[in-house]
This record gives sequence, structure tokens and C-alpha cells, in this order.
Amino acid sequence: MVSYTYRCSVCGEFDRRAPMGGGGANAPCPTCDTKAKRVYRPPRIGRSPSDPRMRLIEDTKRSACEPQVVDSLPAAGRRSRGASARDPRLAALPRP
Ligand SMILES: [Zn+2]
Repeated sequence: MVSYTYRCSVCGEFDRRAPMGGGGANAPCPTCDTKAKRVYRPPRIGRSPSDPRMRLIEDTKRSACEPQVVDSLPAAGRRSRGASARDPRLAALPRP
């Protein structure tokens, strides 16, 4: 079931639930039974604030004008000293 929005010329907008693709161009107003026209809007897919994609977009926009001030590097952001620090055998290889 999908929610379709209609606009009654007397009462205003109302939503009506119908199967996907079942929302016709007109529907009777539940209050005054006047023929109401369907309001076409873009789908609200992925517009939830809990959606990780939306949080990433919002954080990116916010950091552009309000950069976060820190006094130390985050633990995950520290760079290692390269592959030789992880594997001692790599330190024994000849260097150019
Ligand atoms: Zn109405």
C-alpha cells in the first residue's frame, strides 16, 4: 500500500492509501465527497534523517561551513610507519 496525496478545492489536501500504481488522477474527498485532483510529488526515498547516506551528506555540508575543531588526531586517523612497521621481514629488504 502506498500513500497518495490529493487536493480538494474545498477542504485542502488529504492522503489516501491505495496499492502501488492504484492511485488514480482523481479521488472523492473523504469530508465533502468533492472530486479531488491528485498532487504529484517526488518520492521520499532515502530522505530519512536516520539514513546513513543522508547523515553523510548533512555532515559534509555542515563541515564545509562549520569545521569541527579538535586538539588531537582521532585514533583511527593516525598513520602507521609503513609496511615495515607491521612486518619485520620487510625491514630486511634492500632499499633503493
Ligand atoms: Zn473536501
